Amino acid sequence: MDDDWGTARVVRRVEWADGLVTLGLDGELPPFAAGQYVNLALFVDDKRLKRSYSLASAPGEPPEFFLRRVDDGSLTPRLFALPVGGELLIERKPRGLFTLGHVPDAEALWLFATGTGLGPFVGMLRTVEPWARFARIVVVHGVRVARDLAYRDELRALSKRNGDRLTWIPVLSRDPSVGDALHGRIPAALTDGRLETSAGVPIDPASTQVMLCGSPAMLDDVERALEGRGLTKSRPKRPGHIHVERYW
Ligand SMILES: Cc1cc2nc3c(=O)[nH]c(=O)nc-3n(C[C@H](O)[C@H](O)[C@H](O)COP(=O)(O)OP(=O)(O)OC[C@H]3O[C@@H](n4cnc5c(N)ncnc54)[C@H](O)[C@@H]3O)c2cc1C
Repeated sequence: MDDDWGTARVVRRVEWADGLVTLGLDGELPPFAAGQYVNLALFVDDKRLKRSYSLASAPGEPPEFFLRRVDDGSLTPRLFALPVGGELLIERKPRGLFTLGHVPDAEALWLFATGTGLGPFVGMLRTVEPWARFARIVVVHGVRVARDLAYRDELRALSKRNGDRLTWIPVLSRDPSVGDALHGRIPAALTDGRLETSAGVPIDPASTQVMLCGSPAMLDDVERALEGRGLTKSRPKRPGHIHVERYW
């Protein structure tokens, strides 16, 4: 086994809903930036079966991951079967550019996630950086039904602790709109103006930075809608307004 791989034990397991779990692991990682990912693996038929997972933990905290079970997937059903105390392999080599260090300063930071795409944003919001750099933060979380809204209490508490500068907007595709939640899909709620009305925060190139993480359809549709409004995609050598992490 090469040097960066080691074993870790599951020390915390939060099952938010069927097929959605947060795993807390023991051990430490080398220094990383919130939003980065590492590879997790299990030995299957004597081979290391690995996949990438975003860290939902802040740097310096025990590693935490927010996972969806892909029922016909190779690794996730096995990761879901691990009880507290179960062992897995972790590559202690954080990677990735989906971090606030790559996001220019702006008045408002919009974070769009579907499903487990929320994980890297939880990691970022647990650090001081977004609160020091952005006057307003809007988290848009698209899920099927209200019980899939993982981390809801923590997001509310973080907002309260930071002068209500965070607005959390759940978007439910299969549940009706209740309370703070909107019904439908994120791209539609963006194009028809419901997100901005709900947050009271305009999206425009002069004041806005956007990070997107989640299903390919959401990423593509939101990116297209934002580009239609003058925001540009960020490239390594040409910083723009739209920063994307693609899970598949
Ligand atoms: C940089 C990066 C970070 C990632 N971070 C996370 C994370 O924090 N949490 C997480 O759950 N996944 C994350 N993924 C996806 C993860 O690496 C695996 O693809 C996923 O867990 C499926 O693995 P599997 O072996 O069970 O499925 P596979 O046998 O590899 O099947 C893959 C198929 O599963 C579907 N799929 C993959 N990921 C998801 C998902 N999250 N929700 C719904 N369908 C999916 C897609 O159709 C994909 O083609 C990340 C991927 C990348 C590239």
